[in-house]
Amino acid sequence: MTVDVLLKGGVLPNGQTTDIAISDGVIAAVEPTIDAEAGEVVDIAGDLVSPPFLDPHFHMDATLSYGQPRINASGTLLEGIALWGELKKEQTEEEIAERALRYCDWAVSMGLLGIRSHVDTSDDEAMKGVRALLSVRETVKPYLDLQLVAFPQDGFYRAPQARQNTLAALDMGVDVVGGIPHFERTMAEGRACVTELCEIAAERGLRVDMHCDETDDPLSRHIEQLAYETQRLGLQGRVVGSHLTSMHSMDNYYVSKLLPLMAEAEVAAVPNPLINITLQGRHDTYPKRRGLTRVPEMLAHGIRVAWGQDCVRDPWYALGTADMLDVAFMGLHVAQMTSPAAMRQCFDMVTSDTAAIMGLHDLGLEKGKRASLVVLDAGDPIEAIRLRPDRLLVMSNGKIIARKEKRKTALSVPGRPTEIDRRHSAG
Ligand SMILES: [Zn+2]
Repeated sequence: MTVDVLLKGGVLPNGQTTDIAISDGVIAAVEPTIDAEAGEVVDIAGDLVSPPFLDPHFHMDATLSYGQPRINASGTLLEGIALWGELKKEQTEEEIAERALRYCDWAVSMGLLGIRSHVDTSDDEAMKGVRALLSVRETVKPYLDLQLVAFPQDGFYRAPQARQNTLAALDMGVDVVGGIPHFERTMAEGRACVTELCEIAAERGLRVDMHCDETDDPLSRHIEQLAYETQRLGLQGRVVGSHLTSMHSMDNYYVSKLLPLMAEAEVAAVPNPLINITLQGRHDTYPKRRGLTRVPEMLAHGIRVAWGQDCVRDPWYALGTADMLDVAFMGLHVAQMTSPAAMRQCFDMVTSDTAAIMGLHDLGLEKGKRASLVVLDAGDPIEAIRLRPDRLLVMSNGKIIARKEKRKTALSVPGRPTEIDRRHSAG
């Protein structure tokens, strides 16, 4: 057998040590020992090899714009939306595409090879972003799966041009139908927009991903309508409720009815822990709510959940690194998912569970799947979350597209080792 690349001695997320052979862009074999002629042999002995990181919730039209035209002084979602309104008037299509491509470089370097990005469709100004991101989607296609969501940021009904522009964006090839029901003028209009947007998705055979109930108001219950419409229209398995932060504050009795409805409709949930812990609870004194939806409870009901990143250096968030392990790390803490099984699940929630939500069924570390993977300077998924370590090698569709040399820190302390790396696997 002759293969393009042979990875020797990697550790799979399940702890198995394995060789992986790659040929013609796909995984040709995953076996304990592979003897084959290879264009390149890479020794990854003892290092974690994982399916690529995926981000199910991002805003690429706004990324890397922090400080333009000014900084969000209150730190709230609403000031962020107002600030974004100022920025989108100023920026050109070329500037948006340039920022997006720069971000994609960061993503690739961190093994983040699939991104679902919302793109604002509220008004004519926002359509610059639609055109820019459609062109970026084509540019990065050989190495990064970019899905775009038509997102009427200022309200599908509330913003005068949003309906028309959202439909236009879908006609132009945007992949997924989005919405923001809690930002409409009334609860009734919020419910109505969920219905209409789900009908649009059903007619066009598209997926739905809605910013849903991103508020601390326990009476914001658009997720109920989203689950109902998913079932009525036969959209099971194709709908995501993003954020769902109101659920944090909801009455427990109501939640005990809601979660089975979501499970029955196969509606998935995408919490965004970095952003939700930052933006929510801003109207509280103390105790201050955490602003994250009920993740362990949803998982216990069989609801699929994946962590989203949401923002990097934009009107809503000053930080962000394109590292989905940062996202998993924050989610693990805020949701108190600290058992070994729950920590491992947090890793799946930025890799395999996200692939299922995004419909990327050809990803995974099995023979015949697309050869997209990442090698980390860690021994297992829990250690990866703990260290958020260097990505030593990133492969997309059979090509190595990013590499970083493994480095230890030199230590000069009497009687102690001369170098350390902080790896400390349980096994
Ligand atoms: Zn968002």
